[in-house]
Amino acid sequence: MRLAARTNSIKPSPTLAMNAKATALKASGVDIVNFGVGEPDFDTPDNIKEAAIKAIRDGFTKYTAVGGIDPLKQAIVEKFKNDNGLEYKKSEILVSCGAKHSLYNIAEALFGPGDEVIIPAPFWVTYPDQVLLNDAVPVIVETDESNSFQVTPDQLKSKITSNTKAIILNSPSNPTGLGYDRECLQTIAELAIEHDFYIISDEIYEKMIYDGFKHISIATLGEEVKKRTIVVNGLSKSHAMTGWRIGFTAGPEDITKAMTNIQSQSTSNPTSISQKAAVEALTGPQDFLPEMLAAFDTRRKYMVQRLNNMPGVTCKTPVGAFYAFPNISSYFGKSFQGSVIKDSLELSTYWLEHAGVAAVPGSAFGDDKYIRLSYATSMENIEKGLNGIEKALKNLV
Ligand SMILES: *Cc1c(COP(=O)(O)O)cnc(C)c1O
Repeated sequence: MRLAARTNSIKPSPTLAMNAKATALKASGVDIVNFGVGEPDFDTPDNIKEAAIKAIRDGFTKYTAVGGIDPLKQAIVEKFKNDNGLEYKKSEILVSCGAKHSLYNIAEALFGPGDEVIIPAPFWVTYPDQVLLNDAVPVIVETDESNSFQVTPDQLKSKITSNTKAIILNSPSNPTGLGYDRECLQTIAELAIEHDFYIISDEIYEKMIYDGFKHISIATLGEEVKKRTIVVNGLSKSHAMTGWRIGFTAGPEDITKAMTNIQSQSTSNPTSISQKAAVEALTGPQDFLPEMLAAFDTRRKYMVQRLNNMPGVTCKTPVGAFYAFPNISSYFGKSFQGSVIKDSLELSTYWLEHAGVAAVPGSAFGDDKYIRLSYATSMENIEKGLNGIEKALKNLV
């Protein structure tokens, strides 16, 4: 008996894998600071929890419409209008079981054999594998730290072919914490129109921004762009709701309909209870977000400063999400007790074993010169973890 060939083309999410390794070490009694996590360390706000509890008490525990209940779609339509200045009809919205599921539905609806999908690196680990799972080809474009990891017109042009089906953008970015400016989005939009490919815009971190960074949704750059763009968003990050599994898309009606049909034959509706909670998250008080952001901001500044003070480490100041992405490549070639550290995986493994820190190697995100550190953990942990890293780096010769 053989498994389907596609199972060989993908690997388990490396971020979840590092998380599992850290958890196992912790369970065995080793003290580990986990910088590998990709979710806010805040609890879901009480008003949202109450809405879910009420949904259960009211018996709102049955199947719903596949693509989401009407009040939730309405709340999402208003979210796009108020936050992004984008006008959508409810028929252009699909609610799914997390933004990752939204992205998967897009991949199933758009990609097939022969299609090429451009993914700027560093990228979120899931994008290439979702492309591969749908028999298409991920085409990785390398970007430069000096340009805040934004893809330039020339870099992009060098990868566009007649088979280019889409580009996957993520601003603010996981893992870099940096974002796209208007000028760069504009050139991507122009190339998408000229060469007729789709733009998949993952905007899950749009609200987690600092230092006055302005998030711009690429779909706002004109009707011709909007027609080719599917915007992905969700509540996991902005409302600390990772476990509730609510994500959504806004995009052309034909694609939305195809995705809804796919969802109807795979998961059916997202959890009824989570949908009620999501309505409260989008329409209830929003005072939770500034509180969470203030905490992230303090940790961000501290972490970036500490990293830049370590010899041989450079870290651009992130303007979004909750990750620092230091360049640690000057340590490649150094050794610990005779064994040479060759790449980001070996350095992060060394950190796990000798610094008491779990972090995700840049190779997982398509750029080996870096390691991703999440600051979605307490200041106390951050201080302890960075002390460990500093000491461990000093021990490399
Ligand atoms: C966390 C994350 C998502 C998806 O989160 P869900 O929990 O599936 O909604 C999507 N894209 C990026 C870049 C993320 O970091």
